[in-house]
Amino acid sequence: MTETVSRPAGAQQVPLPLDVEAIRADFPILSRTVRDGKRLVYLDSGATSQKPTSVLDAERWFYENVNAAPHRGAHQLAEEATAAYEAARTTIGAFIGAPENEVVFTRNSTEAINLVAYALSNAATAKEPEFRRYAVGQGDEIVVTEMEHHANLLPWQQLCERTGATLRWLGLTDDGRLDLSDLATVVNERTKLVAVTQQSNILGTINPLGDIVARAREVGALVLVDGAQSVPHQRVDVTELGADFLVFSGHKMLGPTGVGVLWGRYDVLDALPPFLTGGSMIEVVRMEGSTFMPPPQRFEAGVPMTAQVIGLAAAVEYLQRLGMDQVQAHEEALTEYALAQLRAVPGVTVIGPPDTVARGGAISFTVEGIHPHDVGQVLDDLGIAVRVGHHCAWPVVRRYGVPATTRATFYVHTGYDDVDALVEGVREAQRFFGVAPSEDEGATS
Ligand code: PLP
Repeated sequence: MTETVSRPAGAQQVPLPLDVEAIRADFPILSRTVRDGKRLVYLDSGATSQKPTSVLDAERWFYENVNAAPHRGAHQLAEEATAAYEAARTTIGAFIGAPENEVVFTRNSTEAINLVAYALSNAATAKEPEFRRYAVGQGDEIVVTEMEHHANLLPWQQLCERTGATLRWLGLTDDGRLDLSDLATVVNERTKLVAVTQQSNILGTINPLGDIVARAREVGALVLVDGAQSVPHQRVDVTELGADFLVFSGHKMLGPTGVGVLWGRYDVLDALPPFLTGGSMIEVVRMEGSTFMPPPQRFEAGVPMTAQVIGLAAAVEYLQRLGMDQVQAHEEALTEYALAQLRAVPGVTVIGPPDTVARGGAISFTVEGIHPHDVGQVLDDLGIAVRVGHHCAWPVVRRYGVPATTRATFYVHTGYDDVDALVEGVREAQRFFGVAPSEDEGATS
């Protein structure tokens, strides 16, 4: 475990854009130890991120000072809760270049995608003609890609089962990128919606959305971008994206669990029927039938996750103070270093793009002769938290012929010491399982 690792060529530690030590001091959880006193090396931000004190404080501030249901009640607390909730909507919208009336709060990305999928199938039977514009039915097609998280695959499979539409998909190249060679046939005049991730949670790939959006526009299809792994890690502006929907999760971007965002172009949102119905989203209710508020309220039934929304606004402000371009550059430097370091370990194969061109900081790999779960176990014993399995993207591991992968993901508090710990941990796993090959065998990617 204390073996000295020789640095491979190209694995230089260029100065990191973010001050890792100062940032770590903002995250209380990073000062705890795990597994009998070991430093916590948290390389699982892709699953969920840790929270800085300012986010924890924002939630606590709400409960201690304001707690009330927004948009209900005539008392001072209700007024203040409404103001805080709507101010948070403005902050979060501005973060992605959107006006507040295009920002819908959901529980997470999964719920945001389901909201759109159910609205599109509800549209077919809506009694209001203005809600039928985007209805999906028999003969229509929905397009996804083979690299989608299950959250951006199953809702579309289910939509197709409900409506009789057909699901089609874009495949992957051997080096972990989208195969766009048949884009013009897969996305065609029958396509109603294209749902695609901006950054793959398992391969790290950043997708060429411009090409996909342009083709969707040619055929009049809607585009939903899954930003669960991009919005936390790079600057995303909906006016540049050109899509109709963007979804992301608060808990992956330093914010609380239980809050996500559906951004939608106002005219598209306005033409969709509700998904969930109940309080807070109605105009007039009679026993014979009801009418609904305009967006975003039409899609926010019930008392919302107010403290979480306020916590997410604090997370956005924290990221804005760091600067999203800096955040991306930071992760790019770490990724370049980690790819070179891992590649120098014989028996390690990186699944996904081999370089940092259009690539984020999710690094999936296999270690010859050791099951990914066993790699994860050895790393955990060393205090290193990674994710193992199919990462809710089962078709991807199937495509690359592996049962599962070990995945490390980086964020603003990640430093070179974390990457070194990971690489040293992989070598330790090889020693533990007696599969440490000789150094000159080289690794693949
Ligand atoms: N999309 C991608 C690319 C993800 O990585 C994830 C979660 O890992 C999701 C969607 C779903 O996010 P959530 O579980 O927060 O709904």
